[in-house]
Amino acid sequence: MNIHEYQAKAVLKSYGAPVAAGVAVFSAQEAEAAAKSLPGPVYVVKTQIHAGGRGKGKFKELGPDAKGGVRVVRSVDEVKSNAAEMLGNTLVTKQTGPAGKQVNRLYIEDGAAIARELYLSLLVDRGTGRVAFVCSTEGGMDIETVAAETPEKILTLPIDPESGVTDLDAIRLAEALKLEEPAKSEGMALFKTLYKAFTDKDMSLLEINPLVVLEDGHVRVLDAKVSFENNALFRHPDIAELRDETEEDPKEIEASKYDLSYVALDGD
Ligand code: ADP
Ligand code: MG
Repeated sequence: MNIHEYQAKAVLKSYGAPVAAGVAVFSAQEAEAAAKSLPGPVYVVKTQIHAGGRGKGKFKELGPDAKGGVRVVRSVDEVKSNAAEMLGNTLVTKQTGPAGKQVNRLYIEDGAAIARELYLSLLVDRGTGRVAFVCSTEGGMDIETVAAETPEKILTLPIDPESGVTDLDAIRLAEALKLEEPAKSEGMALFKTLYKAFTDKDMSLLEINPLVVLEDGHVRVLDAKVSFENNALFRHPDIAELRDETEEDPKEIEASKYDLSYVALDGD
């Protein structure tokens, strides 16, 4: 099961991960009120759909020159007008397929002063049978492209389930990401926090792209994509509640009512 970025950030925040202040909204009015509750002066209006690549995505209904699905703006009025422009329209990204996804929710977030964008994820590594970290200094872009063109810039680090993330593991990750203080200590704590959240909640994927180092030297989780293992969802009623059926294939929803794991594919 997938959840929205803002929901993933709330889960990570409950474990102590550094995320920005933000509010999920369903209308331009709510977006305006949300912006007023944030410190400013920079705000980010982020479409909430179960697909990545939103920043570089295009709205079907808007012209080719319209901005994408993640917009950095500098006033409450702009938050409102951008929200009005995006809500109800269809965003097409690399991950949505050509049909795109209708935007029903937005996340209004405090803008970050970014110095560096990094890539960090946790996944279940089938090869080693362990949870592994994947990290790279090349954040903010397609990790598939980095893997294809500059694989030496990616570190994959499987974690021993007996010990969890050791200090040595944390140092290796911090060094691979070229973190310096205070980001280094914060990052080392964050790796342990993320591993705990991942294993506690039976996640199957936790992808932070980008993890950023701010201009003041601190780290922040700027994007978050989380998938949960469906077969373990019964253990996590709090997570099951986050399901957004409007993002799922109606055929798969129907099948899941009968405990069937059905995957809808294209074609006949
Ligand atoms: P997606 O991966 O779906 O395109 P992201 O959340 O990664 O969406 O946002 C795309 C880009 O927008 C980021 O790489 C970052 O440069 C910028 N961005 C996102 N959130 C913020 C924020 N709170 N403050 C400043 N810039 C942001
Ligand atoms: Mg991203």
